[in-house]
Amino acid sequence: MHRIVIVGGGAGGLELATRLGDTMGREQKALITLVDACPTHVWKPLLHEVAAGSLDVDAHQIEYAAQAHWHHFSFALGEMVELDSGSRRLRLSEIRDDERPNEVVLPTRWIEYDTLVLALGSRTHSFGISGAETHAVTMDTLEQAERLRKRLLHTCVRNNALKEAGLHRTVKIAIIGGGATGVELAGELRRMEESFRKFGLHASEPTGDFEITVFEAGTRILPALPERISAMAQQMLQQLGVSVSLSDPIVEVSRDQIRTRSGHIATTDIVIWAAGIKAPAVLGCINGLAVNHINQVTVDGKLRSVSDDNIFALGDCASCSWTNDRSVPPRAQAAHQQAVYLAKAISARARGMAIGDFHYTDYGSLVSLGSSKAIGHLIGGFPGASLLLEGGLAKLMYTALYQKHRTAISGLRRTIVDVLAHRLRRMARPRVKLH
Ligand SMILES: Cc1cc2nc3c(=O)[nH]c(=O)nc-3n(C[C@H](O)[C@H](O)[C@H](O)COP(=O)(O)OP(=O)(O)OC[C@H]3O[C@@H](n4cnc5c(N)ncnc54)[C@H](O)[C@@H]3O)c2cc1C
Repeated sequence: MHRIVIVGGGAGGLELATRLGDTMGREQKALITLVDACPTHVWKPLLHEVAAGSLDVDAHQIEYAAQAHWHHFSFALGEMVELDSGSRRLRLSEIRDDERPNEVVLPTRWIEYDTLVLALGSRTHSFGISGAETHAVTMDTLEQAERLRKRLLHTCVRNNALKEAGLHRTVKIAIIGGGATGVELAGELRRMEESFRKFGLHASEPTGDFEITVFEAGTRILPALPERISAMAQQMLQQLGVSVSLSDPIVEVSRDQIRTRSGHIATTDIVIWAAGIKAPAVLGCINGLAVNHINQVTVDGKLRSVSDDNIFALGDCASCSWTNDRSVPPRAQAAHQQAVYLAKAISARARGMAIGDFHYTDYGSLVSLGSSKAIGHLIGGFPGASLLLEGGLAKLMYTALYQKHRTAISGLRRTIVDVLAHRLRRMARPRVKLH
């Protein structure tokens, strides 16, 4: 049977594996294998909520092995570390026991393919700024988001204890990058702080212990959104007590301070890097595979590598042109649209047919600002027609986007059961994780 291997089970890869499994896998027309470095999937746009402790990770992660069983594909756990496109095979790294690192759980393995889809996503790009990789924390993976949450929690607990000795001080948090990730994280941190105060882990009143500043190198936050929305978002952040620094890029990060191009030095307790993306380094080391300056695989209108007919790429790790001077943006909605397209294109290809090129439709963006507010605009696919949304309605739409992803992955019935179970559990638990 034709062997289709998808590397990366994120927003795009998991949806593609599920769609192909439900069609070609179920009908035994192809053997579909999903590879991922982690055993579970968490939708990446939720990571800032993980970092702020406002998301119950157990309720939102999907186990690849179970998903594979239910949707007629197989799952291989491991990180792709090498690709030999000449002999159409890729190598997965060995897996070691976390507790006993000398013990190998799975040895290094080669997986062969006839069609390969690269869906490895992206990482934060530190642009070579001195000290950024060493001293700033990122939120590229679930583990990193969890580590950040624990660091914030411990800082608050320690600070609260110091209060009794009169040594209490504010915790200075610098968020580098005023895009959607940085802005949403700032909103979530305020929610985290409110809950900590409510449950006695955090003491100061009336304003918080978190002194949050968003540093944006450009002239406005949310540069990808219309100016009016940027201005409203900035106002909302200010109402939440978040400071915004514009047009003064960070040039150096050290253990407890950051320096901007104008020479301004700010002391910091935690620096969170949320600016820019680049695709995983492994893509830049593959012999003969065309990639751009940030390791994204260069693809044609059919999402096929321009250097290899048997390799496709989607999502953040693909460089796909959109309009004359722009590429498809690294967003969950783009990964979703590309997964839907590739499911049809790969199935048509197996039948010796071809379908038209991929066309990205921008449906707008919504940015969440804490528990009950969001802001953004919906375009609806009609050029020139856009709808500005704010407040509770925008938040509802924002939540609906995630439910749409879950429905595409788990089906409507399982999603409804999960949502109801989650709502019931939330009634008996604090809104923010406190340990
Ligand atoms: C905090 C945050 C908030 C965001 N908010 C939004 C938002 O509100 N709206 C929006 O549209 N977008 C948002 N994004 C962007 C969005 O998450 C991405 O565009 C989207 O997830 C890309 O999907 P993908 O399938 O390309 O990759 P991902 O979803 O990143 O998945 C990549 C997968 O590949 C796996 N992988 C990576 N390397 C290897 C390897 N070598 N071997 C095996 N497996 C590997 C990873 O484990 C992961 O499962 C946000 C991103 C972040 C970080």
